[in-house]
Amino acid sequence: MDPVLLYDTTLRDGSQGEGISFSAEEKLKIALRLDDIGLHFIEGGWPGSNPKDLQFFELARKAVFAHARLAAFGCTRKPGRAAENDPHLRALLDCGTSLVTVFGKSWDFHVTAVMGTRLDENVAMIRDTVGHLRQNGRDVIYDAEHFFDGFRADPGYALATIAAAAQAGADTVVLCDTNGGTLPFDVPEIMARVRAHLGSGVRMGIHAHNDCGLALANSIAAVQAGAVMVHGTVNGYGERCGNTDLTAVAPVLQLKMGRACMSEANLKKLKSLSRFVGETANMVPLHSRPFVGRSAFAHKGGVHVSAIMKHPEAYEHMAPERVGNHRRVLVSDLSGRSNVEYKARELGLDIELPDADSRRIVSEIKQMEQDGYQFDAADGSFKVLIQKLTETFRPLFELESFRVTIEKDKDQPCRAHATVKIAVDGRSEITAAEGYGPVSALDNALRKALGRFYPDLGDMRLTDFKVRVIDGSRGTAARVRVLIDSRDPDHVWSTIGVSEDIIEASWQALADSFHYKLSRGAEPVSGANSESPTPR
Ligand SMILES: [Zn+2]
Repeated sequence: MDPVLLYDTTLRDGSQGEGISFSAEEKLKIALRLDDIGLHFIEGGWPGSNPKDLQFFELARKAVFAHARLAAFGCTRKPGRAAENDPHLRALLDCGTSLVTVFGKSWDFHVTAVMGTRLDENVAMIRDTVGHLRQNGRDVIYDAEHFFDGFRADPGYALATIAAAAQAGADTVVLCDTNGGTLPFDVPEIMARVRAHLGSGVRMGIHAHNDCGLALANSIAAVQAGAVMVHGTVNGYGERCGNTDLTAVAPVLQLKMGRACMSEANLKKLKSLSRFVGETANMVPLHSRPFVGRSAFAHKGGVHVSAIMKHPEAYEHMAPERVGNHRRVLVSDLSGRSNVEYKARELGLDIELPDADSRRIVSEIKQMEQDGYQFDAADGSFKVLIQKLTETFRPLFELESFRVTIEKDKDQPCRAHATVKIAVDGRSEITAAEGYGPVSALDNALRKALGRFYPDLGDMRLTDFKVRVIDGSRGTAARVRVLIDSRDPDHVWSTIGVSEDIIEASWQALADSFHYKLSRGAEPVSGANSESPTPR
């Protein structure tokens, strides 16, 4: 069976997703990661459409790609103009890539109503453009835009457009479901008609959009029907509902269908690639993303957990390690003993729980969850809690007092100040700091105070802060739950606080976060100035 070629379009289609914008340097970093994971093709962008993409190709010229071929992307020549005089085609050639992907129209309605030209001129535009690029020594992939819609409207015309591209020398014809409205069971029949029309010398590819949530299904159906190239983006980023998600289509093809597209070693880098591109795009990660999401192999129900401890395949369709993910067990009010023990082990807590202890801990956790704590989203606090409940907790600092004040003058923004007094090994430290709000002021003051004793804290930062009212029916006495996400270069962790007071709840979550970070190996430095309050 032929291998399937993966063609990444994150740098073009992906960057059209709402809220996503990549600089040229970021694009290069992503391209190098895509190369590292063994993708066959990387679309660098559309040099005719924006200067950032032009800059990317300049940077890429100096980079070394070990596996991937870089493609420049553009459209067919303008109506009524010779290909050799078209500035967009000039820009495509100037990118210097040996491969160019061009798209053209397949749908008669688009040709006449949107582009405003004649049907025969559109076919000539496709033929001339591909021919011109071939004459200039480029390999050409042809993207048939709106092919499925065009085929439904006028199959003869749609087929004539791709035949023109193939005859002019395109080695791959990619059928695009540009509006994302095609259903998977329509794909094989249309592809069979395409194959019959083009003959066997031309590769067929699929480029699916996800407007019906079917981009992955359509891509798989296309491969079953003979496509040997799949276009997609990392995390499925793209305009509207996005594109085929490469982090899903690669494991489905390779692991489920046995179609060679990515080595086992490279599949293990998928989760890390997904996270890297998500971070670069500054998008909140989708925990439920198949294969690579944080929750993709997370188990919550007690019965499930005791079963997967014995037989992982009972509730998992595959081993998470194959795509670089790992199994997680969530602790929640559904939890039984097995969850707690499993989770403790996962967090690296070396505890042997006697039966009685473990029952006590579970009932303690259940009580706290009644009170509004939610440990399945707060692994950092859970670790601290288990240490406290098993009397293995070593307080690395103790709060003596804090004070937070907020000032507002007329229409000036609020200013928050915090003073924190803590003790480390019997030595006191007082610091004061400002912040954008009370929590940030507290964080700054605590960080400053601890920084004297634990210089390693510098690489830790808070990344998210969420507040939720737990019990709305009690009016102002309602409790709030504060969740804080923190990270350092190697880890991400979450902590929780619950109180009737938002500052108190925030403090609990902050203190747990610092304890979690410090408990992973920090020792206080000796000689820190003791008993010398230095409010600033
Ligand atoms: Zn697209």
